[in-house]
Amino acid sequence: MAGKRYDCIARLNGNTLEAILFSACETFNKECCGILLGKQYSNILDINAAFAYQEIDRYQKYVIYDNKKIKKIHEIVKNVGEEEILGEFHSHINDGNIKPLSPSSTDIENMEIGNIEIITTIWRKKRFRKLVMRKGIITGCFGNFFVRVACFMKVGKKRYVRCPLQVKGLEVS
Ligand SMILES: [Zn+2]
Repeated sequence: MAGKRYDCIARLNGNTLEAILFSACETFNKECCGILLGKQYSNILDINAAFAYQEIDRYQKYVIYDNKKIKKIHEIVKNVGEEEILGEFHSHINDGNIKPLSPSSTDIENMEIGNIEIITTIWRKKRFRKLVMRKGIITGCFGNFFVRVACFMKVGKKRYVRCPLQVKGLEVS
């Protein structure tokens, strides 16, 4: 995509962050997946809404969706809303080993260049830690879960960069 910038900051409002986190908690211990809507201004991605896909098959390590149904949603966004599709979000279930927070090779394959993917790594809470922002990554407890949320943008066939997140009102640590 010509003119797209890759060195982006992904700005979320509190409601959108909650939608992403509720979705990850709801489907635990299976993955969730949904769409991110918003607008891009230069190197700022304003993520205004997140909607979980409902008609998908969820598994612990992946989801399967019907491309026709997803296309239908994308058409509606293009025709009705003023928002653009910025990308998608999904969750990674953590089995106790803290894996590096990054998209899998399948995740990268399925993304479009210039699109973002917000990934929530989620596992059961062991002890309480406040939800904070640390170096553009959200980390801490949400309900009975521990979550770590980061945003990635595909910049080449197999390449991605991490876009720091910004959430208004979330304590920076
Ligand atoms: Zn993934």
